[in-house]
Amino acid sequence: MSKIIASAVMRGAKTIYDKAEANLKKAIDAKGPNEEVHFPNTGYYLPVIYGLTGHKVESLKDMEPALKMARDLLPADLPTDTLHLPYLGETLDAGIATLFSEEIIEALRYVMDESPVDDLWVGAADDVIMRERGIEFVDGSAPGFAAIVGAAESNEQAAKLVRELQEKSLYVFIAGKNHEGRNIATQLREAGVDLGWDTRLVPFGEEVYSHIYSIGFATRAAMAFGGVEPGDYNRILIYNKNRVFAFVMALTGGVSDEQYATAAGAISYGFPTITTADIPEILPYGITTYEHVVSNIPFEEITEKSIEVRGLKVQITEVPVPVPYGAAFEGERIRKDNMYAQFGGQKSPAFEWVRNKDISEVTDNKIEVVGPEIDDVEEGAAIPLGIVVDVAGRKMQEDFEPIVERQVHYFINGASGVWHMGQRDIIWVRISKDAKKAGFKFSHLGDVLRAKIIGDYGSIIDKVQVTIYTNEEDVLRLQEEARAVYIVRNERIAGMSDESVDTFYSCTLCQSFAPTHVCVISPERLGLCGAYNWLDGRAAYEINPTGCNQPVAKGAVIDAEKGRWSGVDEFVKEKSADAIAGFNAYTMMEDPMTSCGCFECIVALVPSANGVMIVNREHSEMTPCGMKFSTLAGSVGGGLQVPGFIGIGKQFIASNKFISADGGFHRIVWMPKALKEQLKAQLAKRAEELGDVSFIDKIADETNAVTEEEVTEWCTKVGHPALTMESMF
Ligand code: SF4
Repeated sequence: MSKIIASAVMRGAKTIYDKAEANLKKAIDAKGPNEEVHFPNTGYYLPVIYGLTGHKVESLKDMEPALKMARDLLPADLPTDTLHLPYLGETLDAGIATLFSEEIIEALRYVMDESPVDDLWVGAADDVIMRERGIEFVDGSAPGFAAIVGAAESNEQAAKLVRELQEKSLYVFIAGKNHEGRNIATQLREAGVDLGWDTRLVPFGEEVYSHIYSIGFATRAAMAFGGVEPGDYNRILIYNKNRVFAFVMALTGGVSDEQYATAAGAISYGFPTITTADIPEILPYGITTYEHVVSNIPFEEITEKSIEVRGLKVQITEVPVPVPYGAAFEGERIRKDNMYAQFGGQKSPAFEWVRNKDISEVTDNKIEVVGPEIDDVEEGAAIPLGIVVDVAGRKMQEDFEPIVERQVHYFINGASGVWHMGQRDIIWVRISKDAKKAGFKFSHLGDVLRAKIIGDYGSIIDKVQVTIYTNEEDVLRLQEEARAVYIVRNERIAGMSDESVDTFYSCTLCQSFAPTHVCVISPERLGLCGAYNWLDGRAAYEINPTGCNQPVAKGAVIDAEKGRWSGVDEFVKEKSADAIAGFNAYTMMEDPMTSCGCFECIVALVPSANGVMIVNREHSEMTPCGMKFSTLAGSVGGGLQVPGFIGIGKQFIASNKFISADGGFHRIVWMPKALKEQLKAQLAKRAEELGDVSFIDKIADETNAVTEEEVTEWCTKVGHPALTMESMF
């Protein structure tokens, strides 16, 4: 706790108390002790005093016990230079004493016909306003308020600041001037900005004491909407900390002792102070959700910083794009003749990458296109695409990156006229002619992602910045960086086995395309799309316990060799709406896992070679089973169980459990050369584990075999072990 701040708060509290005491004496002398006291049209008396203590102030003489409570809360002495103590408790007490004193000062203005209301200042809010506006704090349409003290550098700056706050649906409560006597309410009026409850810009009064109306508003909200009894100060303060996302914003110039004291009162309510001023900070968490006082913030960053420090979650109800948006458009296809532009899908390099960054490195809602925009490209063009989404949040972790990244597919597909397929570096995106005609730009991909990520992951992510790269040089460069990260993510799971856990994780994200499909992700078998492993499933469940990734208790072992458990079967049956009775995790020949359509690879039986071929999505040529990937995908996907065929993630190929009940790794007789090259290290490692380092060279590829006959000939020539293994069927 800063001694400088503690001293200033205690000095300020004493000054304000003295003023309240003097003003009360003057009022009693002038009007007598029985003179009635009230703010206009309220049943909450002096609401801060009433709420925190239960004491009803109805006359001047009722103010005396209230003032005594303030005096009792004032610390006896200021902090000394020689003895250092933890001042927090005394500072907070002084803050509450300040609030009581300020409420008395303001109430006395009404008694003494010095009402703060004029053509600019609105004074106390009556109960009608409080009910009308307070409900917005409860239903979330107004998450909280910014209590501004002081002035901006210029009228333009003032207008810009409140516009930013209004965009976040916040109320702006204004009171108090800076050391030059300037205040932001006057600046806004000079800038032609409408003030008042209707615009959520509420100028309470010129002196800092008038911020008691902000605190009074919050106190009444706890009693009216939170059902808190007057006098239950603990619940009033907790209600405000948890439900009313308010903060004090102290602008330009120094902070006076009286302002420090008022801010200390606000801190007890969980409302931190964020200031442009160069004052000491109080950074440990405690009474407020995060830091208590944060200073030296550049004016242009103060809104974002305040939102971050207060832990405010901004709700975005609409996705700001010029085409209809909603889950109904997720299954929409864009055919070639209605396509304006496309990215990836073997036509151009394309990838997507979500990166967790430090909060200072991300500018929320900054959407940038690096390279040509839609108007710069010709109809029908195939363009490189890199979607780089930088996210930041106090609760965000690197482990959560893949979970958010996997949502890019669903978020983009929600836009009518935009189609997205795949994940990581195997995406394929199309934008229709209709969407282009409606005004859809490449930058809108960023707008969609920002709105949906904040909307769905606001509990962990506070800021989203999206850069859309459409120039080949950047896309190729960043794609390599992203690939290195994909590898690191895949490797995190190494060393875990299916036997070492009693819980797997489900993924039903693809049910919007394949309603009966359930991925069951185990440590040794990742999701079919390759984007989710067991750790990701666990992290996703941690973020959203009611989402698509649920723990699946394995239950009793039904068949250890084939990989079948009672708990898994029950789960799959329920989640597939009884369509699938269960599955075997380690065989593709009997009740295999269903396949959706997002799989990275398809494994298919090659009967004459007594083995299997694997084809990845990127391989567009003919395969030994007489079908190209696209045709195969049509018959294997859609949530079906097709014995002899499975969809898998690439990393599963090198897993211990890869069709282990069917003979495993040694069954692979064919795979595209590029896939072999891409998985070279993992395949070599697996071959070494099996004591057969030369095995990889025995796997045919398109350079030596394309038909089933050619594959069988190749296997015979190289002495492939599959030929002498037990028959697969
Ligand atoms: S393929 Fe499986 S793991 Fe991947 S998103 Fe679809 S359901 Fe989830």
